[in-house]
Amino acid sequence: MEFEAVIGLEVHVQLTTKTKMFCSCSTKFGNPPNTNVCPICMGFPGVLPVINKKAIEYALKLAIALGCKINLRSVMARKHYFYPDLPKGYQISQYELPIAEEGAVEIEINGQRKKVNLVRIHMEEDAGKLIHDEKHPYSYVDFNRAGVPLLEIVSKPEISSPEEAVAYLKTLRRIVRYLGICDGNMEEGSLRCDANVSVRPKGSSKFGTKVELKNMNSFKHVEKALSYEIKRQIGLLLEGKEVVQETRLYDEATQTTHPMRGKEEAHDYCYFPDPDLIEVKVPESWVEQVAKELPELPSQKKDRFLKEYGLTEKEVDILIEEKDFADFFESTVKLYGNPKPVANFLLTEVLRYLNRDHKLIGETKLTPELISELLTLVDKGVISITTAKQQVFPEVYESGTSPKKVVEEKGLVQESSEDKLRAVCEEVLKENPAEVEKYKKGKKGLLGFFVGQVMKKTRGKANPKVVNQILQKLLES
Ligand SMILES: [Zn+2]
Repeated sequence: MEFEAVIGLEVHVQLTTKTKMFCSCSTKFGNPPNTNVCPICMGFPGVLPVINKKAIEYALKLAIALGCKINLRSVMARKHYFYPDLPKGYQISQYELPIAEEGAVEIEINGQRKKVNLVRIHMEEDAGKLIHDEKHPYSYVDFNRAGVPLLEIVSKPEISSPEEAVAYLKTLRRIVRYLGICDGNMEEGSLRCDANVSVRPKGSSKFGTKVELKNMNSFKHVEKALSYEIKRQIGLLLEGKEVVQETRLYDEATQTTHPMRGKEEAHDYCYFPDPDLIEVKVPESWVEQVAKELPELPSQKKDRFLKEYGLTEKEVDILIEEKDFADFFESTVKLYGNPKPVANFLLTEVLRYLNRDHKLIGETKLTPELISELLTLVDKGVISITTAKQQVFPEVYESGTSPKKVVEEKGLVQESSEDKLRAVCEEVLKENPAEVEKYKKGKKGLLGFFVGQVMKKTRGKANPKVVNQILQKLLES
């Protein structure tokens, strides 16, 4: 019997507002424990929460970007449960009337686009954080995170594989980063994901018993945890056993999932509207304003790049991954004129350095002016592309010095004089008689080898075009 997986994702997105959801404490990550706290986010008696307008604006941005139906009237509700990191004994969330419903995330998998529909998006506050220390028989609690604004995005169970789940998360992450509402940092917990997973015989319309998976804090974890869980459930069904409805934790060390607790039903939380907070009323004019100011979204940018720049889909996908990188590309093209060489240079040299240093383009000294100038030097034959890559760019990257100046200071001007280069070419041919023999017997591919040798001898300064011509002449004679 063949089985299929049914996956729904609940994604928590931590908003990058300056202050918390209901008080003016800072949301800054990494401050000393319990320094971003006040009576409101600590849940002292008698305090009154006041909702953060920016958080509502961010919720509207995402809701509009995902094509949701926006509820102009929504309600904050108390979700009750007891846990040491939750000082009030309840979390302020939304239940019956969330800020937005429906909408979809469009993912791309193996070149195919697929729409994953959403149930809802609601606003809520984050809980604190427990810190377990194996040396002591107790745990610490840090309330800095308590009250930080979150959006929870709940998908319909329309995801059918771990790969699709990862594509969904990556797409959502790209969108919230483009919108500037969340930094998408999974390691620091600003983007978190729980999954509901079940399996059923292929083609069946009935859902199997679902298990909730938690504790997956990277794309890799999500993929591994879901793969393991799907296999585990299919194994149980094949043995004639039942899947138990429960919450399971992913354990990175063993790459398995293990039970954490039985799954609560909604009524266990005793939701009710928070009497301390008034209804959230969003004027239609505000929604229109936010919609008008929405930036170009990743999928729109992708379509436009494909149309305007004549690049391949693979190139465009990498260029648009980070909004700043895409902007950098466009600014450079505007200065330089020709998109293809700019894309080539950014996607090879620049990206290699960014990956090496774990940096974003905005965190470097590079500017569109510098890259455009560098490529222009190559076009004018002042330096070869090899010199540009190996000797000029590293310096420009480290110091932000103008490429022209680097070329002058290092004496890197390309050698195009035929007389000088012919001498080097002759030397190379003399040193490699066996290769010359092979070339003459028809192994024409060796030309590249000779050119490489000449480049090496001239430390990349030889004009490859001229070298090519000279070598061909010498070899044919
Ligand atoms: Zn506070």
